Parts: sequence; structure tokens; C-alpha cells
Amino acid sequence: MRSSTALGWAAAFLAPALISSLDALSNRPSYQLAGFLYLLAVSLAAYLGGFAAGLVATVLATLGLDYFYTPPRHEFVPASTDQAAGVALFFVVAILISQLFGRRRQVQRQAEAASARANRLQAVTARLAEAVTPQQVLDAIVTEGVEAAEARAGAIGLVKADGEMIEIVAQRGYEQNIFVGWESFPLASDTPMGKAIRDESPFFFSTSAERDAAFSTMSTLTGPSHALAILPLVVEGRAIGAIAFTFPTEIEFDAERRALKATLAQQAAQAIDRVRLYEAERALRQRMTFLADASELLGSSLDYEVTLAQLARLAVPEMATWCSVDMVGPDRSIQRLAVAHEDPERAAWAERLGEEYPPDPDQPMGVPNVIRTMTAEFVPEITDELLVEAAQGDERLLEIVRELGLRSAITVPLIARGRALGALSLIRDDSAPRYTELDLDLASELARRAASAVDNAGLYREAERRGDASRALAHVDDGVVLLDEDGAVVSINPAAARILAVDEATVVGETALGSIGGWSEIEDNARPERGGTRGPVTLPLVLSNGNERWISVSGVDFGDGAVYALRDVTEERLLERTRSDFVATASHELRTPLAAVLGAVKTLRREDVSFDPDQREMLMDMIDREAGRLSGIVGQILLTGQLDAGRLRLEHERFDPVALTKSVVDSAELHLPTGIELRVQAEKDVPAVAGDENQLRQVISNLVDNAIKYSPQGGGVELRLNRNGQFARIEVADSGLGIPRDEHDRIFEKFYRLDPALTRGVNGTGLGLYISKELVERMNGRISVDSEPGRGSTFVVEVPLAI
Ligand code: ADP
Repeated sequence: MRSSTALGWAAAFLAPALISSLDALSNRPSYQLAGFLYLLAVSLAAYLGGFAAGLVATVLATLGLDYFYTPPRHEFVPASTDQAAGVALFFVVAILISQLFGRRRQVQRQAEAASARANRLQAVTARLAEAVTPQQVLDAIVTEGVEAAEARAGAIGLVKADGEMIEIVAQRGYEQNIFVGWESFPLASDTPMGKAIRDESPFFFSTSAERDAAFSTMSTLTGPSHALAILPLVVEGRAIGAIAFTFPTEIEFDAERRALKATLAQQAAQAIDRVRLYEAERALRQRMTFLADASELLGSSLDYEVTLAQLARLAVPEMATWCSVDMVGPDRSIQRLAVAHEDPERAAWAERLGEEYPPDPDQPMGVPNVIRTMTAEFVPEITDELLVEAAQGDERLLEIVRELGLRSAITVPLIARGRALGALSLIRDDSAPRYTELDLDLASELARRAASAVDNAGLYREAERRGDASRALAHVDDGVVLLDEDGAVVSINPAAARILAVDEATVVGETALGSIGGWSEIEDNARPERGGTRGPVTLPLVLSNGNERWISVSGVDFGDGAVYALRDVTEERLLERTRSDFVATASHELRTPLAAVLGAVKTLRREDVSFDPDQREMLMDMIDREAGRLSGIVGQILLTGQLDAGRLRLEHERFDPVALTKSVVDSAELHLPTGIELRVQAEKDVPAVAGDENQLRQVISNLVDNAIKYSPQGGGVELRLNRNGQFARIEVADSGLGIPRDEHDRIFEKFYRLDPALTRGVNGTGLGLYISKELVERMNGRISVDSEPGRGSTFVVEVPLAI
């Protein structure tokens, strides 16, 4: 009871009593004065205590006036009707006064109450205006709002993102355990909140009984009977939740009360909506900033291990309480690259835990599953059952994960070019809100960018590696050709391009078969099996430029293609061949004179035959000649060895080339075959030359021997000497078999001999011209041939003149 009302009631009893007691002070008190005082007392009581107090005061005052002051005094019966009328009049006046004041007071009280309500509403509005987080809004409504509603307690339930459940997000004033088991419940449930939200209309129950009658599920709630108001929170025509007010007593909800609650609900709904929008906008901004920071980070380095670890750190604590990155290793195993938590010690602990529990690639959920299926896993709400399932019967692990208070998780695969490179996991604990679809979108976008950064880094590394490899290959002499699965040239190094006589630019990207001459030969003989190796094999190839070369090829297939290593072994091959030819030739060459010598010796030793001196002389001559031939061959072989070893020292002397030539011809004349005629034609005044006279003799006699040898039909051999600038020129011309033009260079090569068919089986070692060329060049001279088959040959030796 308010104090003024109490005072009013006090005045109603005390004031008439006090006035009545004045009777004791005077023998003849004034009836009028007393009446006036009583009227004052009535007014005071009515003013302070309202109509009821005024009425009581009126009755007491009337009785007092009648008893104490209306004659006959101390009796309740007035002496005259006049006096009775006076008392009655007094009663009427007093009633009127008390009513007047009582009414006035009531109006005043109503005004006060209205103003108080307005003030409380104002306080709610003010608190709501300041609220920027959902919690602040809820606090404002369940404190100021409950007070404004004159309620004892209040609660707010909001429809969850799934649209199926209602979650009690704030409450105040209720007994502690009232919401246990009711933290969230289906929207479709038979509850006042469920129905208020579904119907978008409020419920007012003056008593608990009324409520229980309407909602049978609520009848289990015990406690004192009280009134209850449930109002939907409507935003843009949609109920997002409901607010409940519980009153201390049973009350009637008049129109004004209902209107006030409706206003509160409206304000609450708007505030929640505004804050939600604000939150959404802030979260969006935060996400955009995070994504921008992450992109910048990802673009900042090609060392993706470091970048992804930094990314994980960037994600905490805003995006996640825990963030981890796992990558698929080269052996398809899953390796944890980074774990981040705000507290580095926790992160280190998690890393150790990760090592203790390495991921099983066949795990039905989590990172291995995401990597395997290349689809994201979104667990908005981590339930205990899920933890139990994840722990797979490991009690200790279950205890650990339970303790972590994990609440919500997102795991997204890092996919690049259709391949899962790893996974990014974001986990929030109880301290952070649950993940939403928006977060999943953000995580997916982040994963997309991270994957492409990792892929780029990989490609770059690969390119670098390839670059290094191709740089190295550019310098090796061996040819290397890399083909893809379809046989197209991926890379060809300069040596291979040279060996195969192709242009790198024109064959890369084309099939080797179509663009490289002779490749079919390689394909047929050196192509490895899938994953295998083959070769080396040596093959004669007809190249794109028409040349025939001997190439040694080996191939390795590595699944996605094949690599071929090539070496041009034409020279070795020819050398090899000429060498084996030489062995055959030399042994033949040596055997012929040896057989002749042996035969002659044996004949001479025969005792049963007596030789006349001429016959003996002829056999001795033969021995002499063939032994000379043998010594010539052996000499050539020895000289070649000396030349090759660089051990031959040449004299540098001055001599007359004409005299030398003539002396060579003279000795040749000694055993000239029939049908050959030697002629020397020297210009006058051919100057002296500088060089090694003995060796030049060897050269000229070799040319003369050849001219005779390769003129099996006989004919003239002419030696011409003249001066050509600073050189003395010695020509040895025959009219013999001749030499095809494309063999002119090769006949000077070691062991090289023309096809026996072209030389009609003339014997030789293939060393004479090689030795001649080496010797002439060492004397700073030159040697060449001009010849055609069937039209004879002219060898020209030029030796520098002596100064
Ligand atoms: P060989 O001992 O075989 O004569 P050479 O080195 O002197 O070796 O000559 C090399 C080859 O050159 C000979 O095998 C021969 O086929 C050819 N040749 C050399 N001189 C003549 C020539 N005057 N006429 C024709 N062919 C010649």
C-alpha cells in the first residue's frame, strides 16, 4: 500500500477522533466550528486515502458531530429535526467532499500510473536503441521490458535458422530450473510460444489454469497460479519468435494492458531484427575483410606450406576457434600441415594429438572423407553422439573432445584441376556462435582460393624444375626427347634436334611419328612397354633431311609418356666397321706377301730340285719385293699409330720438290707393271719448299703407287710440278678407275677404302691417303683430289715454298 493512502486511512480514523476529543476542552463548543473541522478531516482523509477513506471519515465525522456537538450532546439522537437536518446535511456535504477528492485522487493516480508506464516504455526504448548485439537486445527486453509489462518474469524464444525449432535465447525472473529440457523445442509443438508464432497472434491467460486448459503440455509445470502473456515477435509480417511475460498474480488483461504488451513485443521484434541485420552486415564485412586478407596472404608467396599455416592462424579466432590444414602427400597419405588456435600452446598440444592419432584414409567422416569424396562436410551442431562416433570407441579421445566443447564444424576440400590436394577445417567451440550456411560459403570460397594458390605454387615449382632440367638438357650432348601419352613431342633438347635433323619449334606439340623422319624405326625397335625400359639399340635412320645416320636409342616409359635418349653413333659405327674391315684387309694384305715369301723360301730349300741361277735370282727377287711390301704395310700401320699418338716429329728443311719427285718416279720405274707409263712434267724454276723431305717422299710415292694400283688397265701416270702462289704444286694424274665425287672426302679417312667392286679387288689398307693428308697438313700444306669414275684421278699436293 502506498504511504499517502495509509496516511489517508489514518486521517480517516484519527482526525474525527481528535476533533471529537476537543469536546473535553470546552463546555460549550461551537457546533459550526466542529462541523467545519470535521469537514476538513473528511477532505484530508479523502484527499490522502481516496473515496473509501473519505467515506469512513464522513461516517465517523457525522457520528462525532452528532454525538459530541449536536444537542442533546453525548447522545446519538438530535434534539430537533433542525439539528437532525443539520447532521444529515453535514453527512451529505462530507460525502460530496470525499467523493470529489476521491475522484480527483483516482484520476491523479491513473495519470501517475500512465506516466510511469510511459517512462518504463521509454526506458525500454532507450535501452533497445543502445543495443548492438543480440544479447544486449535480449537483456534490455527481459529486464526493462519485464518491468514495463508489470510482469514478474519474461523469456524470449526465437525460431532457429532451420525454421523447425524454437530456442529460448533469454529469460529472467523465472525459477532456476523451469526451462530445463525446454531450451529448445519444436515450432510445431503444442506450446503457447509455438502457437503464438505459428498463428502470429498473442495469447493472454489470466490464470495458470486457463493456460493449462488451452495447452495440455504445460499442465506439468507446477508452481503458483499466475497470469501469462505470450506475444509473437513479428518482423515484416513474419513471426521470428515470441516473448512471454509471467505475472505475479492472476490478472485481467484489459485493452490497455494488452496494447502495452503488444507495443513491447513490437519494439522487441524490431530491435532484434535491426540487430540481426546489423550483425549480418558486420559479419559480412568481417568475412569480406577476412577473405581479402586471406587472398593477399595466399598471393604473397609461392611457399604454400608457410602460406597455408599463416592462413590457418589468420582464421582464428574470428572465423574459428580451431583451424587446421591437411594435405595429401605424394604417397596419398594425409599429413597435417598446420593447426592454429589463439593460444599457441593449445595449437602445439593439438599438433601432438594429431601425431598421436594420424588420420585413417578410410575414416567415414572428417578430413579423410572430405578428401576422398571431394565434398564439404558441414556440421552446424556437433552433438555428443557425433563425438562418440568420431572417437570410435577410444575413451580417452572421447574425453578429450568432450572437454574441448566443440560446437560447430566445417571441413572443405582443397580442389584444383579435379584433384583434392587437402582439406581445410574450421571448428568453433561453445564460446562462438554456430556456423551458418554463409560460413560454409565463405570456407568454400577460401578453400577454392587456397587450392588454386597451392596448385599455382606447385605448377611454378614444376615449371622451375622443368626449366632447370631443360636448361641442363640444353647442354648435354645426348639427345633427349620427351613424348606424352599420345606420342606428341613435349620437349626435345637441342642435341636431339641436331641428331634427328629437325627444328625444335616445329616438332614440339606434334606427334613424333608425323614430324620426325625415321621415328617409325625408333617406334618399332625402341618403344618401351608401359612403365618399362628398352634399349639401347642402334638403328640406321633415314632422317628428315634424307641423310642416313646410325642412332643409338633407349626408351623409358613413365606412365604419362616416354622419354627417349639418343646418340649419333654414325662415326663410331663407321670407324668400327672400317676397323673390322681393316683387320680383315690387313690380315689379307699381310698374308699375301707372307705367303709369297714363305713359298719362295720353301721352294729354294727344296733339295730334290736344282735351280739354275736365273731361277734362284727370280725367287730371291720375289722374296725381296714381297718383304718390301710387308714392311711397307707394317710401316704404314706404325706411322698411323705415331700420327694418332702425336708422336711423329717432322723435320723442317729446305729441299727441291722436283728432284724429290723425280727420285720417287725413278724408284717406281724399277718394278713398274707392264702397260703403265710414268711421266714427270716440271715447270722451270719451281722454287724450293720447306718441310720434311722424307715424309713428302712417302706422300708422293704413295700417290704414285695408288695411281699405278688403281689403273689395272694400264695407262699413263703423269706427275706435274708447278708453282701456285706461295706453294709448290705437285699433281699426280692417272687415267684409271676414278673415284665417285661423294667419296672424295672420305678416302682421306683412316682405314677408308672404296667398295671393292669399284676398285676391282685391288689390295690396300686404307691408310695411305690418311697418312698422306696428315703429313701434308703437318707441313702446312694441303691435299685434294679431282676425279670421276672411269675418267682417272688427279691428286694435288701443295707444299709451302721455303722463304
Ligand atoms: P689403299 O691402301 O686402299 O690404297 P689409300 O688410303 O691409299 O688406301 O686409298 C684409299 C682408297 O682410295 C683406296 O682404297 C681406293 O679405293 C681409293 N683410291 C686411292 N687412290 C686412287 C686412285 N688413284 N684411283 C682410284 N681410286 C683411288
